[in-house]
Amino acid sequence: MKELTSKINRNTMLSVLVGIIFGAMLFTLIRFIFNNPAPVHYHANFAVFFDEKREEFSGPGYFEEVQACSATESPRGRTHMHQPDNNVVHVHDKNVTWGHFFESLGWALGPDTLVTTNSVYKTTDQKALTFYLNNKEVASPFDQVVGNEDVLVVSYGDGSADLKKQADEAKKPTPADTANVQKDPAACRGSEELSFSTRLKNAVW
Ligand SMILES: [Zn+2]
Repeated sequence: MKELTSKINRNTMLSVLVGIIFGAMLFTLIRFIFNNPAPVHYHANFAVFFDEKREEFSGPGYFEEVQACSATESPRGRTHMHQPDNNVVHVHDKNVTWGHFFESLGWALGPDTLVTTNSVYKTTDQKALTFYLNNKEVASPFDQVVGNEDVLVVSYGDGSADLKKQADEAKKPTPADTANVQKDPAACRGSEELSFSTRLKNAVW
């Protein structure tokens, strides 16, 4: 009788153990499948003109280090440029606005003011700041979410500039649709797709 009881106990314990292991495996599998949202990553084009002269954004200060690409919680991880494309906005998070993007350059954008790293451009009687987004003049794109393959022109001058031509210029050297199918430089490649091991790690932890 005593022997039978301990045998039952052993069997019960065994099935509980199998249940726990199986449950944990199932839980991990479900998380593996569902708990891996595809990372946000798309591109837009932009250009800034002062009296019809295009800003080149030369200097490494304007471009994100590739190591920071995965840090989407940091402002510059969420949106940035990568060398050598001075017209491609990389968006790595939801709800990134044009204001966020200009902040990542160390600039500030307002409805009638543009602050660069060394100057302030204000709308005056002689000159105006004009924003041209997807072939339409807009008041200020500051709090507008950057859309996939958007084209933004920020033009400061006496109003004689051909905005449509400047929008065509903004797509050079690299159009956003080309950037969308290209791999990002170095470490940013990792953000294109989560690797199998990263997915597994996300599922287990
Ligand atoms: Zn990118």
